[in-house]
Amino acid sequence: MTTLIDALRLALAPDAVLDGTPGAETFQSPWTRLGAPLAVVRPASTAQVAAVLRLASDAGVPVVPWGGRTGLVDGCVADGAIALSLDRMAAIEGVDAGAGTMTVQAGCILQTACEAAADEGLLLPLDLGSRGSATIGGNIATNAGGNRVLRYGMMREMVLGLEAVLADGTVIDAMNPLLKNNAGYDLKPLFIGSEGTLGVVTRAVLRLRPAPVSQDTAFIGVEHFDDLPRLLRRLERGLGGNLSAFEVMWADFHDLVTSAPARGRPPLAERYPWYVLVESLGADPAVDAARFETCLGAALEEGEIADAVLARSKAEREAMWALRDDVAQTARNGPIVTFDVSLPIPAMNAYVGAVQAALAEHWPDLGPPMVFGHLGDGNLHIIARVPALTPEHRHRAEMIVYRPLTALGGSISAEHGIGLQKRDHLDLTRSPAEIALMRRLKGALDPAGILNPGKIIA
Ligand SMILES: Cc1cc2nc3c(=O)[nH]c(=O)nc-3n(C[C@H](O)[C@H](O)[C@H](O)COP(=O)(O)OP(=O)(O)OC[C@H]3O[C@@H](n4cnc5c(N)ncnc54)[C@H](O)[C@@H]3O)c2cc1C
Repeated sequence: MTTLIDALRLALAPDAVLDGTPGAETFQSPWTRLGAPLAVVRPASTAQVAAVLRLASDAGVPVVPWGGRTGLVDGCVADGAIALSLDRMAAIEGVDAGAGTMTVQAGCILQTACEAAADEGLLLPLDLGSRGSATIGGNIATNAGGNRVLRYGMMREMVLGLEAVLADGTVIDAMNPLLKNNAGYDLKPLFIGSEGTLGVVTRAVLRLRPAPVSQDTAFIGVEHFDDLPRLLRRLERGLGGNLSAFEVMWADFHDLVTSAPARGRPPLAERYPWYVLVESLGADPAVDAARFETCLGAALEEGEIADAVLARSKAEREAMWALRDDVAQTARNGPIVTFDVSLPIPAMNAYVGAVQAALAEHWPDLGPPMVFGHLGDGNLHIIARVPALTPEHRHRAEMIVYRPLTALGGSISAEHGIGLQKRDHLDLTRSPAEIALMRRLKGALDPAGILNPGKIIA
């Protein structure tokens, strides 16, 4: 192993290879287990990434790509592997305002890329609670979703071109930013959402949109679940494609985040079973605000909405979003297991009721799960309380949350991916033929199985 570490130091630079304590100390994460890597390597170019992979391949040592380490499914666990950090490849190579594109290295922090787009009057629409730490490469590797999927789609829709390095060091240059390119197989999507198991993403060309000029936000109380899809459809129809967020919080999650220390008064005085954070992004402030209020007014008249408050300033809007983003509160009252599922909206209420009942039956002394999510995308986050974080308790909670999804046509992962955490449940969502094809693809691109082994499929 010393030979590999020495060869890596020679190929990169002595200070680009951290083995032992310095690596562990520099690269901690509150969000994911990292395991005990042999070393953390920090290449500064695509050529260096290729060199790392070639050397690791020759030595038969696994390589685990690391971005911002905010992934929530233990995709970065690197026991006995080389952890390949992209943190030195963080440059924004250019913004082409005319073409509406940004060329960026994979280690660039999402927020930095968004700010660079904004400086040119453009929008990189991906928006996540982890925006200050997550990287573009990690966003691509997990096909991240977030708060604006309704309007702009997931990361897949924002990647026009990318560059990736295969396990044997081959560089795949698919950076051509053409919107339409049907010349043979489209290889880019292979790497998007592949969680570092098929290649290391090193650069990308991202699609930017015109920055919105208007931003209308409201916080809404709803009495009946069936009113949620009605309200969603009304806003989709009435806002002419401007609806960007339809975030729903079940009352237990709402009560938790609004009662956090130093939090001011909740946006709505009354308590409701559901709260919705709605946002519209548009190009004409006067027209858009009037249309937004008209839509909500009509929903109020029809009884779909019990009460609503509009954000009248940037501070009010940020305070509303701060509630939705404050997921850290869910760990306030003891151990939790987090889930990220998707299913058809009409099935959600009964599904959540069944999950609540099963958890209460199993652990009657613990509080109910906290439920919230991007309901407009069919995506719910369920945070289950468990007595302790043992494998047995986790498995029990997983069975309760995942099992009903197969019959409902749902998915065990809406946006966080599979990693190590959900691997053993993949067959609840994917057919045997799909999983077999995933294995064939993995075998074709990484025959020795050195790239992030054990993640997604065993
Ligand atoms: C507070 C919080 C809120 C979040 N909200 C959302 C949300 O709304 N929507 C959502 O989708 N996710 C969300 N996440 C999850 C997470 O932030 C995303 O998955 C993000 O895209 C991960 O980026 P990262 O750079 O941190 O990747 P990492 O955690 O470093 O890596 C994630 C996976 O991608 C692989 N990987 C990383 N970089 C590369 C690369 N360059 N090439 C190949 N593989 C690579 C890793 O090996 C690992 O398997 C949230 C996380 C937190 C902590």
